[in-house]
Amino acid sequence: MSKAGAGGLGADYGSDRHFMASNLAIDFQPFDATPAGDLVVFVGDDLTPGEVARQLNPGLERLIAEAAPVERFKGKALTALNLTKPPGLGVDRLIVVGVGSGEEAAKLDWTALGGFLAGRLSGRPGHVLADVPGTAAGPEEVAQMALGARLRAYRFERYKTKKRDEENGPPAKLTFAVADVRAARKAAEALDGVAEGVMLARDLVNEPANVLSPEEFARRAQELSKLGIEVEVLDEKALSALGMRALLAVGQGSTRESRVVIMRWSGGRAADKPVAFIGKGVVFDSGGISIKPGGGMEEMKGDMAGAACVVGLMQALATRKAKVNAVGVVGLVENMPDGNAQRPGDIVTTLSGQTVEIINTDAEGRLVLADLLWHVQDRYKPQIMIDLATLTGAILVALAQEHAGLFSNNDELADRLIAAGRATGEKVWRLPLGPEYDKMIDSKFADMKNTGGRHGGSITAAQFLQRFVNDVPWAHLDIAGTAMNAPQTEINKSWGSGWGVRLLDRLVRDHYER
Ligand code: MN
Ligand code: ZN
Repeated sequence: MSKAGAGGLGADYGSDRHFMASNLAIDFQPFDATPAGDLVVFVGDDLTPGEVARQLNPGLERLIAEAAPVERFKGKALTALNLTKPPGLGVDRLIVVGVGSGEEAAKLDWTALGGFLAGRLSGRPGHVLADVPGTAAGPEEVAQMALGARLRAYRFERYKTKKRDEENGPPAKLTFAVADVRAARKAAEALDGVAEGVMLARDLVNEPANVLSPEEFARRAQELSKLGIEVEVLDEKALSALGMRALLAVGQGSTRESRVVIMRWSGGRAADKPVAFIGKGVVFDSGGISIKPGGGMEEMKGDMAGAACVVGLMQALATRKAKVNAVGVVGLVENMPDGNAQRPGDIVTTLSGQTVEIINTDAEGRLVLADLLWHVQDRYKPQIMIDLATLTGAILVALAQEHAGLFSNNDELADRLIAAGRATGEKVWRLPLGPEYDKMIDSKFADMKNTGGRHGGSITAAQFLQRFVNDVPWAHLDIAGTAMNAPQTEINKSWGSGWGVRLLDRLVRDHYER
């Protein structure tokens, strides 16, 4: 039971998330199907469409050659030329999408290309002739394009009471014309879970904190049980019995109770050690007694993006029936100033038995993670353990919004994450750990303090976490710059990006499935 009633809007909306993530309908047809909607074709920087496109549409090459100079269109990658009512093609619009030189085309980011073309269709159905010059766009590549289009089409409009102007919306429907319909459909279905996992994570990050309390977050995570995930929700009584005092101390100033959710997907052999993912889920971070300045404080509804990623990832793994055992654990709390809130100077005894002097109540995420890391390695003996957290503003100073900060006690795991980052575009940059940095969080009164000062703030936060990690290969991802107020890209127009779902799905796929 919550100590307070659900926030105003919470009760009315229930569990239907389909109207939240606009789910673009995608279909596959043979190359020679009649286009329904705007026709999309691809050209290289010589302005020549692929052979199939030319055979199906005699006159296409000439149309493009005549229009291109007028519009100064040169076929560069991710640029487009629009022709209205092109003679002889029988469509309302022709959209010519550039893929650049042969060399560029060979290195195409297919997901971004799919996002780009979906962005050209605004409210209209599209028919994409998936014949891309200079490349072999097979089922995998087409599926990646479809994924990019779906992610681009995502909108969070739950609280808009007026209908959006279609002109600025996503495509009405998208058909990919391909050589092998069955193979393309199969490849696309394999990515359904990833698309849905990313959109679920975005939904959670975009939700306001009056709706998304720890309890409501836990309820939404519980819905994953429909996919065969075992979901266990620990309430304050259970957390207290376990000894998660550091996590509970963060939430004690809120009228809303804290929760920990443990999600288990068992797709591997019984004897396989699990891979573990741990997310910071501070549903709102006011800073507590060390209250934050008012400007931009509304963004702190996104301080649960690590937890959102873990839930989205579990959904992705279960949907595609990944052959792996995975544990996802999220710590859900609200950090508020109140007569019962923890104070600077307080000393808490963590689950590990180590004590922490609270210097700043706004450095709360690490307290939540400390108890979770300890619990997960103790109870599940994972083969690897990765935590994600919107942990420090300092990570934005270091890396802006282009990379997430990566810290690890294991070079192999770090290298695998860096490679998965390159493959998915969710890039990570490794920063150091070391005894010199560790010293910076020694405390006069307790085993450690919860901040190491301004210098190297992301590093000392990671050092703090490492004090709760034993021998298990572990990585910490500081996603404060990448997960919320995210850069707008071809595949993301959302404030909450769902960052990390694609990265970690890829990591699991490449290294931890049998
Ligand atoms: Mn904080
Ligand atoms: Zn925080």
